[in-house]
Amino acid sequence: MSTSLDSGWFTEVFDSHGSAFSLKVTETLHEVQSPYQHLAVYATETFGNLMVLDGCVMLTDRDNFLYHEMIAHPALFTHADPKRVVIIGGGDCGTLREVLRHPGVDRVTQIDIDEEVTRAAERFFPSLTASNDDPRAELLFADGVKWIEEAADDSVDVLIIDSTDPVGPAEGLFKTDFLRRCHRVLRAGGVLVQQSESPLYHSGSIIRELRRDMGEAGFDSVATLPFPQPVYPSGWWSVTLAGKGADVTSFREAAVVATEMPLEYYTAAAHRGALALPPFMRRLLED
Ligand code: SAM
Repeated sequence: MSTSLDSGWFTEVFDSHGSAFSLKVTETLHEVQSPYQHLAVYATETFGNLMVLDGCVMLTDRDNFLYHEMIAHPALFTHADPKRVVIIGGGDCGTLREVLRHPGVDRVTQIDIDEEVTRAAERFFPSLTASNDDPRAELLFADGVKWIEEAADDSVDVLIIDSTDPVGPAEGLFKTDFLRRCHRVLRAGGVLVQQSESPLYHSGSIIRELRRDMGEAGFDSVATLPFPQPVYPSGWWSVTLAGKGADVTSFREAAVVATEMPLEYYTAAAHRGALALPPFMRRLLED
C-alpha cells in the first residue's frame, strides 16, 4: 500500500491487488503525527471530508454510514437483549453513535489507542461525535489488546472490533489469543463483531483465517456479512460476527422492522441479504 497527493488527487495504491482509489482533494485541513500513526484530514470535491491514517482511507462524510451501520446494527439486532457494549478502536465515534441509538443499551465503552483520532473527528466530522455526551458513553484512550486482557470474565454482551487494518497497532486485534480473551469477556449469548476487510481481495486469506481463529477461540457460530464501501480497497467490505452460544446466522427481524432509527442503509432485508453469502465467498471461506 502506498499513497500520493499529486495535482490535487489523493491516491491510495493497493500494490498487492494492482489497484488504487483516488479522491479529488481541495484542501489539507489537518495533519499530525501521533505516537501511533500519521493522521490527515482533507476536504474533497465530492465526498466531503476524508480521514486518512498511515496513508489508508478511514472514512469520508459521504459514505461512512455504510460501514458504521453495518458494524453496529447486525450485531446488536443479533444479540437477544444487548445492555453492555464495548468498542475496540472506533475513535471516529461513528460506531458509538450507532450503538447509542439502541435504547436498551445501558453502557458503551469505547477504547481507542489514539486520542488524536477522536479529537480530529470532533473538529472535522462533528455529526459522528454528536452523541459523545450521552451519559451511557465512556471514552477511553488505551490499547484495546491490553484492555481486553484485563477485563472481567462474562461482563460484556456485544464486543465490536472497529480497528484499522491488521498491521501496526491493530495487528494484535487479529490474533487468536486476542479472540480467546474476547470470548472469555463475553457473557453467554454474547456477540463479537470485527471489521474483516474486502470480500473480493481477502475471502481466501484474512477473512478465512479470522473465521477459523474465531472457531479455535471457542465461538460456536460465525457469519461474514459483505456490504458496499466505495472508499475502501475494491469498494466492497465485510464484518464478521461470532457468537458465544448465540446463533449469528439469525437476528431479531421484527425488531429491525419496527425500529424508527433514522438509518440510511441497514434494514431487515439488507441484513438477510448480507447473510446470503455469494457462492464465490462460500467457496473461498469454506474449501
Ligand atoms: N473504519 C475503519 C476501517 O475499517 O479502516 C476503522 C476506523 S477507526 C478510525 C480505527 C481505529 O482503530 C483507529 O482510530 C485506531 O487508532 C484504532 N486502533 C488501532 N489499533 C488499536 C488498538 N490496539 N487498540 C485500540 N484501538 C486501536
